[in-house]
Amino acid sequence: MPTLSKRLAAEPRTSSRPQILTAADLTRIPWLVHGFTTRPGGFTTSYGGKTLNVGFTKDDLRASVERNRKRAMLAAGAVTKGEPWPLITLRQVHSDIIHVVRSRKAGLIQQTRFVGDGLVTDLRGIALAVLTADCFPVLLVDTKRKAVGAFHAGWRGTVKRIVEKGVGIMRLEFGSRPEDIHAAIGPGIQQCSFEVGEEVEEAFHTQFAYAAELFHTVQESDAVRERYPMLFMNQRAPGHGDPCIKVHLDLREANRRQLLAAGVPEENITALKDCTVCQPRKFFSHRAERGKTGRQMALVGIK
Ligand SMILES: [Zn+2]
Repeated sequence: MPTLSKRLAAEPRTSSRPQILTAADLTRIPWLVHGFTTRPGGFTTSYGGKTLNVGFTKDDLRASVERNRKRAMLAAGAVTKGEPWPLITLRQVHSDIIHVVRSRKAGLIQQTRFVGDGLVTDLRGIALAVLTADCFPVLLVDTKRKAVGAFHAGWRGTVKRIVEKGVGIMRLEFGSRPEDIHAAIGPGIQQCSFEVGEEVEEAFHTQFAYAAELFHTVQESDAVRERYPMLFMNQRAPGHGDPCIKVHLDLREANRRQLLAAGVPEENITALKDCTVCQPRKFFSHRAERGKTGRQMALVGIK
């Protein structure tokens, strides 16, 4: 079977315009720029076809990533007089570290000076961004105080409450009230594709009273198993669990619950349904491509 890269390369090139996903709720805010980039429509050739990889990965050329970033910024509208805004990104480490951006001194192309997984600001004319390839990007917007935030939430960051703390930082720094905050949870690895091990389940159970609601058991349909049930009955001693029962995590819901816990009204939360693993032509996916993949970007800024 050809690899994903080969299959994608063999297909005719799609539209060269990058596709930026948005949350309808946030598009109604006139002074806001936001968006979630997708896979097609860039200058990168390392991942099959031409893609909009915006992460400085080891496989990609730096020049391609810089061009892709500029293209994404223009497509999202993070631009003044034809020039893209400064773009602030992070060296992401699956933490709960959030930086308050107080200066525009950052370039489009430079590698970031911030280490952490969240950025907030009330400065105009800069874009905050997180990069993902299965982890969830979460954007926060305070419509009254004009402040924004971008957060990178994988399972580790979610256990550390990165998004819940993000709301807290906005309250502290900008005087934000949770009821004025609107949130968008972008594309990520949805429940359908997120099989997890016991250590993940345990980590959530130690932190959240509602943890049980985030995990779902999935019975793997297995033709061999159905045909020869005796084989499987004898495979394990009683009480040792069924090897065909898998546990899946709903990480999108975990982050939605944190927003609710922080006081963000339910009607202010938009969660995109896109699964990065299930849509390989539309998104980069760390899990689907076994680590050799690009990154998409969630960005937010104030005009
Ligand atoms: Zn999926």
